[in-house]
Amino acid sequence: MNNNKYKILMVEDEENIRTFVGALLEANGFQVILAKKCSEAQLLYSSYIPDLVILDLGLPDKDGICFLSNIRERDPTPVIVLSARSDENEKVKALDMGANDYVTKPFGSAELLARVRSALRSSRHGAQEGRLPGGRFTAGELVIEYDARRIYIKNEEIKLTQTEYNIVSFLSEHCGKVMTYSAIIKAIWREYPDEGSIKKLQVNMANIRKKFGARPGENNYIVNELGVGYRMNGDN
Ligand code: CA
Repeated sequence: MNNNKYKILMVEDEENIRTFVGALLEANGFQVILAKKCSEAQLLYSSYIPDLVILDLGLPDKDGICFLSNIRERDPTPVIVLSARSDENEKVKALDMGANDYVTKPFGSAELLARVRSALRSSRHGAQEGRLPGGRFTAGELVIEYDARRIYIKNEEIKLTQTEYNIVSFLSEHCGKVMTYSAIIKAIWREYPDEGSIKKLQVNMANIRKKFGARPGENNYIVNELGVGYRMNGDN
């Protein structure tokens, strides 16, 4: 066994999805550990210490959310949640409890692999200078200088308001991770999210995207996850 491979724990009770994802990840160079339910996942987690967890929320013994909160009590291992299309609240809850990302069933291979790579990359990034105050953050041609509170794209400074800067800086500290409306609002305005504050966030975000020169359909620095939140895209 190659010890340099990333270890991914996949927790899913539906056999066809488990087998499909397991084979997909193995074919792409990952070591895969499969679990059918929460209790099994917990044991395997402790013995393998995986680099990433893919977690279905509807499991036969316990809600996947319980396992997520167990992981978060111990360490910041990235967790990608698998969820059913219909349940926006479930996604928001999982993200607010510390999941890094979610993939909606049914999903394609390319989408899942992209999310896995991005979650692994952002967890590595988190340990590096870009995230620390005083450091620099870069993603493609976007540069943030945290000390100076300045942002550049293609070497040109983007003039943001204080609030706009705070939002971009906050998203960059969690690059690759979907941040829910409520997480952003609490961090920026220290207030409990309601309709008014969501509106305020959306207005600020529209201005940021305009100043960033964002265009629909292009690979933009800030991605709007409809009905859930926003994500800084580090893959540019
Ligand atoms: Ca299930």
